[in-house]
Amino acid sequence: MADAHHNGPILIAGGRVIDPANGRDGAFDVLIADGLVKAVDRSIPADGLDQTARVIDASGLVVSPGFIDIHVHLREPGYEYKETIATGAEAAARGGFTTICAMPNTDPAIDNAAVVDYIANRAAGAPARVRAIGCVTKGRKGRELADMEELITAGVVAFSDDGDPVYDAGLMRLALTYSRDLGVPISNHCEDHELCPGGVMSEGWVSSRLGLAGIPAVAEEAMVARDISLTELTGGRLHLAHLSTAGSVAMVRQAKERGIAVTAEVCPHHLMLTEAWALGGKGDPNVAAGPMAYDTHTKVYPPLRSNADVAACVAGLADGTIDCVATDHAPHERVSKECTYHEAAFGISVLETALGTLMSTVHSGSISLPTLVERLTTGPARVMGNGFAQYASLTPGTPADLVLFDPDAGWTVDVNKFASMGRNTPLDGVTLRGRVGATVVGGRIVFEEPTVLNKGDVA
Ligand SMILES: [Zn+2]
Repeated sequence: MADAHHNGPILIAGGRVIDPANGRDGAFDVLIADGLVKAVDRSIPADGLDQTARVIDASGLVVSPGFIDIHVHLREPGYEYKETIATGAEAAARGGFTTICAMPNTDPAIDNAAVVDYIANRAAGAPARVRAIGCVTKGRKGRELADMEELITAGVVAFSDDGDPVYDAGLMRLALTYSRDLGVPISNHCEDHELCPGGVMSEGWVSSRLGLAGIPAVAEEAMVARDISLTELTGGRLHLAHLSTAGSVAMVRQAKERGIAVTAEVCPHHLMLTEAWALGGKGDPNVAAGPMAYDTHTKVYPPLRSNADVAACVAGLADGTIDCVATDHAPHERVSKECTYHEAAFGISVLETALGTLMSTVHSGSISLPTLVERLTTGPARVMGNGFAQYASLTPGTPADLVLFDPDAGWTVDVNKFASMGRNTPLDGVTLRGRVGATVVGGRIVFEEPTVLNKGDVA
């Protein structure tokens, strides 16, 4: 249970502090008080503290700024049977995320100030900071631009029609032009519908074996190429949502080398799961031919791809071509996955498995732990700009948003224990390594997992 009543100082002692914003990685103590980081030092004695102070033994744990997720679907307003802002924020806290940015494919869509205000009111007191992303086009219909000025004034932190691309290149050009002046990114879901009519999974050997309509890599890459060209033309702020193919990673790498202001994100599942997971054998194609010849929980947009695509995404995240991780947390009600692969909804519930999934790239030696932490903290903060940096560092004086996690702890995913209403993940029953011990937002402990946290306690 979260220690909701404790509002006094907290001393987090003996952990490995990874604070990419300050280039820090080593054994440090962290003192929190009045909602802020007060001090980070080699040794902060507990005896000098106020009697109400709580001391947390963080030995064996990593202590870092809280994770920032710039791409989640909270489903409220309109789809509260899938998720609410409250349950989504609770799932975030359990996943170590202290700030989450909600995509606007709600009903009504986030295309006017009233909906932004509604979300802010519903998020008050939630265990994570919730920010809204506004629509690029009115009603996400792709016909005319939303009132971007009104939305910025209301507090949106980016624009996106996510769930759908901004299909009209002329509108995308205009949106990018405004993004330059407004100083916020346009996050585009790149998908050329005409290249994947009826597609439900990656086009390849698995789609052939299952007889399912495929989505070729070029459906994503064609629009990534278009958007990079439009960004070069306009000088706008393009952010590419959920990259999934080797070709997309290569194009972003080349664009950055040419000095074009593009940023990109990748989802945890695209760094670990391949199209073979669709066969229902948790990635093992040899156990696929049972009664469940496929697993609808693997249906996600963009689709799970080939081994080569996964390797390219991991390499892109490691070398900084891809700026950050974003979960694309997409909770759905049970029945939307209890159907044929064609009928199933796209999306995976990700917030509570993200760290364990991502740590697979560290345990395999593909990405260093400090780099992974960077891609979850300062990486997304840099993409968003506009004050996000204060939540992405342990600099004294900044808001105390932190996560404590055990990078090695093994645990088995059990969807029945999720805080999220979305139990739709192909990882149910899978053992992951890497688990959150505590999450702190504004100096308040919003989540605590005693089995992880007490590991370092003296017996
Ligand atoms: Zn999307």
